[in-house]
Amino acid sequence: ARRRIIAGNWKMNMTPSQAVELCATLKDLVKNDDVDVVYCVPAIDIVPVAEAIKGTNVKLGAENFYIEDKGAFTGEISAPMLKDAGVEYIIIGHSERRDIFGENDILINAKVKKAFAAGLKPILCCGESLALRKAGTYKEWIARQIKWDLTDVTADQVKELVIAYEPIWAIGTGETATADQAQEVCKMIRDVIAEMYDAPTAEAVRIQYGGSMNAGNAAELLSKDDIDGGLIGGAALKPDFGKIVNA
Ligand code: 13P
Repeated sequence: ARRRIIAGNWKMNMTPSQAVELCATLKDLVKNDDVDVVYCVPAIDIVPVAEAIKGTNVKLGAENFYIEDKGAFTGEISAPMLKDAGVEYIIIGHSERRDIFGENDILINAKVKKAFAAGLKPILCCGESLALRKAGTYKEWIARQIKWDLTDVTADQVKELVIAYEPIWAIGTGETATADQAQEVCKMIRDVIAEMYDAPTAEAVRIQYGGSMNAGNAAELLSKDDIDGGLIGGAALKPDFGKIVNA
């Protein structure tokens, strides 16, 4: 059985002092040893949050990095830097990085490979726009994203991978995919992994839903066979996150 993983994506929220405060607020609410609980936080919050979650069940994640280890890349941070600071998970391919910062599938694939090489566990995001959802071609689009983004990634690595299905039309909009819509795509993603690799790999990979997930809809989404967790934006910054962890 796959272990559930509930991850917060804090995005560009929380100053370092607010971050420490939020960790204190959530500390008792997110206690659950049957679930992986992850805070993916802004780069500047990584060090104080690592300290704030010491001795708890919470694991540390980052939101972005660059594929080189070090050097003249002004403004960037590297996988070894994250690793040294105690980061375990790394979000890759979020639609905000694809759409606002122009990250394409070639870079995303390079990031997935680099993350694994550096000992970080990728949370690889995929998902369609509203236009693709309406056009009915969303499944082909997502399958193509997965195939590009996992080029030359091994089965053993994919067994450690987390994939987040995040329909762009459901992110920050308050409009959640229905549990059936989310399940349909998460199952399709698992089928793509089975086709690219094999059945045991597809059974092992953990697939999250993300997009306006909250305390009210989490239990139904998480009850679905192929939904192994959530990637949570807005609701990860509130005490409600504890309800999602324990949904
Ligand atoms: P919201 O939960 O705010 O819709 O954000 C989802 C998301 O993009 C998580 O990565």
